[in-house]
Amino acid sequence: MREQVCKYMCPYARFQSVMFDEDTLIISYDENRGEPRGARKKGVDPKTQNLGDCINCGICVQVCPVGIDIRNGLQYECIGCAACIDACDEVMDKIGSPRGLIRYTTEAALEGKYPEKEIPSRLKRPRVVMYALVLSIVLVAAITSLILRKPFKVDIIRDRASLVRETDEGWLENNYSIKIINTTEQNQHFVISVEGLPGIKMVPVNKPVDVKATETESVSVRVQADPQYATKGSHEIHFVIRSINNPALHVEEKSSFIGE
Ligand code: SF4
Ligand code: SF4
Repeated sequence: MREQVCKYMCPYARFQSVMFDEDTLIISYDENRGEPRGARKKGVDPKTQNLGDCINCGICVQVCPVGIDIRNGLQYECIGCAACIDACDEVMDKIGSPRGLIRYTTEAALEGKYPEKEIPSRLKRPRVVMYALVLSIVLVAAITSLILRKPFKVDIIRDRASLVRETDEGWLENNYSIKIINTTEQNQHFVISVEGLPGIKMVPVNKPVDVKATETESVSVRVQADPQYATKGSHEIHFVIRSINNPALHVEEKSSFIGE
């Protein structure tokens, strides 16, 4: 299951094929050095047997968390964990061959277009600068949204099943459902009020709403307005949800009141 998540769900694999070019530092198997692969006796020079450095032990495949064989070339499933590098280096140590049969290198360096010591100087190219810029913008946006994050959110839904009702006192009444989402790790307490029409009031009046840490609480409220102001049609009103813990903190949400 873990391999399937890496192969089909992880977005990193999809990104990397689009972002790579021949100068991108990738984990690669050095085919020129490793092939032809094959088992040999310890201490035997592989060249005398017409073999490369890969002894075909399969350890690089066994340690790979996504189960690929890096010797088949770069594959989109590779998550760049470098486990195959460490495993192969250990094998090379044991058989007395130089490390780095699987190593960090670039496609162009492997093809001999430039020596591997020139790889760091290839960092200065427009693609890298552009990605660094995009990454910085994303980071700044993420940090800003974290700093500006509201400690609570509010969602207001007017009950459309009962549009408007007349109370015993002759006032007009609309029903609302107010959902308060506590986005912090502390319990919060709120008080709700309504404004927008002269004399408009809410029932229950000033009843505190307790919302536990990271939870959501829904409350049903009735809003009553004087019919001389709440004339036929829709009137804009505002609910003010104020934190009792921090009275300076409040959210104002627009809604509508339907007159007769
Ligand atoms: S670990 Fe190294 S030697 Fe063993 S199969 Fe993989 S590439 Fe070849
Ligand atoms: S870097 Fe990790 S994921 Fe990629 S081939 Fe090597 S072991 Fe597998």
